[in-house]
Amino acid sequence: MRIGCPTCKSTIDLDANCAGQLIRCRACGRSFVAPSELTVTGQRHTLSQFSIVGLLLLHFLTMGVYSVIHLGLMHDRLPKIRKSDPSGFVSVALSMVPFVNLVWLFFSLRRLCVRLNEQRRFAGLPEDVPQTLAVVVATLLTCGTVATILPITGWVVLGATLSVLAPVFLATVQASVNELVALEDSSQPETASHGANEPAASAGLSNRDLGEAGERRDLAGTTGS
Ligand SMILES: [Zn+2]
Repeated sequence: MRIGCPTCKSTIDLDANCAGQLIRCRACGRSFVAPSELTVTGQRHTLSQFSIVGLLLLHFLTMGVYSVIHLGLMHDRLPKIRKSDPSGFVSVALSMVPFVNLVWLFFSLRRLCVRLNEQRRFAGLPEDVPQTLAVVVATLLTCGTVATILPITGWVVLGATLSVLAPVFLATVQASVNELVALEDSSQPETASHGANEPAASAGLSNRDLGEAGERRDLAGTTGS
């Protein structure tokens, strides 16, 4: 699996043995702890770039239906790290079931942001896929749908969400994906296979001595289920 050095962003290829190990970047010499998720994933995402303009056109042409499918299917292109990470099929199917979808969208959209941010972190990019916006969009869609029992109100909320906030969210997510894919396509494995031949002991540092590079975030512990 390929990750980015947290300090200098150069690309480093690691195998699953390096998970949680102290490794040293050859480009900048800084040491850091490889993500512990390596053991779980051992696989790359298969995300691809998509035109943001095209995506927005499809969003408006289909009144948001295409967006639900597009975002739902992204789940299939991400390594399944948690048991509760949904497949693309489940995500899209539940998004289409009336009433169930009102609850499902909260989970599905937010989890998608979490999963995309993981991939960005592995690549050394900032985790800027907007989780909060995902929750706001899902909340407004739910409130708007419920409010359609009132005259006008619900439709105004739904219309505003689908025509403004949802496209902003969609474009932001796709821009983050495009940036990630572009970075990985352009980077060469110049600093190949660190760590495997230099186990943590040889670095003479414990995990505690790592400073900022040692911020080891244990994903399974913090975001699991
Ligand atoms: Zn580095």
